[in-house]
Amino acid sequence: MVRRNLQPNSTVRAAPSRAVALMLLALAASTSSGCLQLRRFVVPPPDPSREGIVGKEKQPSRPLADTVLIVGHLAGHPDGRAVALRAGEVIAVGTPAEVTPVQGPLTQVVRVSQGWATQGLVDAHVHLEGAAMRADAADLTAVTDGNGLTRAARLVRASMTGWLWGFGLSQAAFDGMDAAEVDAALDETPAYLSRADGHGALLSSALVEQLPRELAEQVRKNGNKVSGPLASQVWRALPAWPLVRLRPLLRQLLLQFERRGVTEVHAIGESQALLETLFSLEAAGQLAVRVRLYFDAERPEGRALLAGKYKRVPSRAVVVAGAKLWLDGTLGARSAALLQPYSDQPGHSGTLNYSDAQVADVLAQADKQGIQLAVHAIGDAAVEQILRVSEGLHRDPAALAVRIEHAQVVAPTQLARIKTGRFECSVQPRHRHADAEFAQARLGTERMNWAYRGIGLADVCPVRAGSDAPVVVSDPLGDLKVMLETPPVQLGATLDQSDLAGLAWRALGPMGTRQALKPLRVGDRSDWVIWSADPRDPKLGAVPQWTIIRGVVRQIVPE
Ligand SMILES: [Zn+2]
Repeated sequence: MVRRNLQPNSTVRAAPSRAVALMLLALAASTSSGCLQLRRFVVPPPDPSREGIVGKEKQPSRPLADTVLIVGHLAGHPDGRAVALRAGEVIAVGTPAEVTPVQGPLTQVVRVSQGWATQGLVDAHVHLEGAAMRADAADLTAVTDGNGLTRAARLVRASMTGWLWGFGLSQAAFDGMDAAEVDAALDETPAYLSRADGHGALLSSALVEQLPRELAEQVRKNGNKVSGPLASQVWRALPAWPLVRLRPLLRQLLLQFERRGVTEVHAIGESQALLETLFSLEAAGQLAVRVRLYFDAERPEGRALLAGKYKRVPSRAVVVAGAKLWLDGTLGARSAALLQPYSDQPGHSGTLNYSDAQVADVLAQADKQGIQLAVHAIGDAAVEQILRVSEGLHRDPAALAVRIEHAQVVAPTQLARIKTGRFECSVQPRHRHADAEFAQARLGTERMNWAYRGIGLADVCPVRAGSDAPVVVSDPLGDLKVMLETPPVQLGATLDQSDLAGLAWRALGPMGTRQALKPLRVGDRSDWVIWSADPRDPKLGAVPQWTIIRGVVRQIVPE
């Protein structure tokens, strides 16, 4: 446990409820020294000097707050400096004096007089298993040839899965290297070397030998280079990381999210093994942030969920929300499906992974089960497919919005149809920069004028912003910075009112509705982050100082 003094203007006065105390104890007990999670749980005794101000006896009928935040600025309430919470629900908001009546002897008061309190932020697109295990992967970002590969592989600890994972091959290295070069560099090591976009890989022959025969033959036909659905198929066939390794890495990863002000992540295309690891962290009181999980629709658990044969386990912090289906590939690999051919490969427009009938079938199943479908759609032909399928199904107006993941190339003619349909747009603002080396070549100037709309899609659908970790690290303020810079987006009004549009926890209301931008009111529910400065101004370098997630107050100490 690392001991630190409180921030100069931070005070906490608390006598926690028994449940909260137990949870804090469990969390504190699990915090070992020397690890990354340098945090401290502050549970001082009640302050007798406050007894005169607050008293249960005076207003016995009024429910009392379990937490009161007193800050310099309160998002969503221009005049407010204080908010009182009970089980995560706002029960009073306004000046400090206005929330005093709901403070009781058991109320925790978090006071950061210069702080900015916002709703907790959401990273709406992450791959938790990949992001967690990346700590065990060879870093291939600087690899350009076999020699670089040998060096990168040497730095990796012995694998617990029997195969080596490398992550981060550039498109150029992926294109430039072949199976012989990989085998020569890695000797007999079974290896899966992922491209930086996560949707393609180079395999060593030793790994291919371990695959089911039919799959191995397909891979060999491709020269041990896999992309899109074939890459996913191979990935699913590989031995998973054992819980004993996945669990501590996942725990660290979730703490990293929290240190960026993220209080909820949407985990896209995940497995049952990952879900069970999350449950085991939750049971131990070690799950830092909320998780909304979408199974890979091609895994048995995803199929079972869609078919209504999956039994969901009740959990406060981990929700199995739906399934993810990959409609197309990526721009880098020219496998994203475009309406017009690639500018740097005439006659080639990428490929759709499924027929309309197959997609319609999956969407109808999702609607029937009341779960949310998330479709990976990078190119405008993939966007076109989900629009066409959705329009053809005449969906129930009560059906959940379909999440369009990435939505990088949305043609101007598609905007009105997105607005009429039931869609959410899940965008990764920083991909605009990450893709810069090839996007212009793939799409050409005209399409680049309207591609990567990002938060600009807010005119036609609720936008959720995310990182796509491990493709890039989770950094919501980094996403916000890009959104603020990116023309032709007009953010002014949106940001002023909602604070961190597309990032704030439930800023857009319940999934699939558009009730954003309302002022903070009694009855609202959310998690909270208290920042050191205005997080909307990138120049100020705001960092989270406290989080309040599921009612649990934690002080964040920087890494
Ligand atoms: Zn992704």
